[in-house]
Amino acid sequence: MPLLVPISKSLQTALEKLSRETGEPITHLISNALSHCFDVPQHTLFQVSTSGALVQGIYKRAVSSSFLLNYGDFGLGTFENLDGEMVVLDGAIYQARSDGKVLNITDDAGTPFAVVTHFTADQDQSIVSASSFAEITKICDRYRDSDNLFYAFRIDGHFTHIHTRAMKATLDGLPLAKAAAIQPEFEFVDVDGTLVGLWAPQFSSALNIAGYHFHFLSEDRTKGGHLLECSGKNLRVRVDRLNDFHLSLPESEEFLRADLTKDASEDLAYAEQLHKKENA
Ligand SMILES: [Zn+2]
Repeated sequence: MPLLVPISKSLQTALEKLSRETGEPITHLISNALSHCFDVPQHTLFQVSTSGALVQGIYKRAVSSSFLLNYGDFGLGTFENLDGEMVVLDGAIYQARSDGKVLNITDDAGTPFAVVTHFTADQDQSIVSASSFAEITKICDRYRDSDNLFYAFRIDGHFTHIHTRAMKATLDGLPLAKAAAIQPEFEFVDVDGTLVGLWAPQFSSALNIAGYHFHFLSEDRTKGGHLLECSGKNLRVRVDRLNDFHLSLPESEEFLRADLTKDASEDLAYAEQLHKKENA
């Protein structure tokens, strides 16, 4: 949000001096100063638990959904016992459930895994049309200036096709790859909505899902889920470059005792991407 505020000459001189010395644009310096003043973190990704723990079947509550909102107004995750897909958008939490319904979560709900940020766009771009998810991610690649930072992507517009899945509540301890193999999937045609996404660097694969991870929420908040495939036109793409990472680890007995030494990235890739159903 642009803000026009008169400031004193001495403040202006100090800002210009700091900008010259650090190479930081004045707008960044002011945003940083305000974020310190009000204790609102900027460009920080806040993550609860690790993808490795999720792969191992650690699905119990690590934090509450309301706690999550202290750390961001935008993001994605899942709920206790993998009960649906979480979408955090404009400071509200939505649960895309396996029965196809989307609930606005206002009461406390537990989450075993989530990533959120206070979304502040560094870039505002557009995509005229894209015929596949792969094409959209290729375009998003152009808006990343590094492979070594995290990026939040917000994509709004008209989707000619959306293919999602939504996790069904499962037993604690059932490995994610097995749980993901039997999930209901949904197809939507000609729907307005938002893709809420994160790009995570390869080096973070021990903690997170490396690469792109998007959840969808329709404009009328009735459709959603973990994105498997999509196409769209007249899309607005906003990008938030995240250079700060905060990891909150669960202290549950199951997390403390879990063997998290195994590389979970293969199981995770299987669970997160489009694949043939094994059991259903
Ligand atoms: Zn997901």
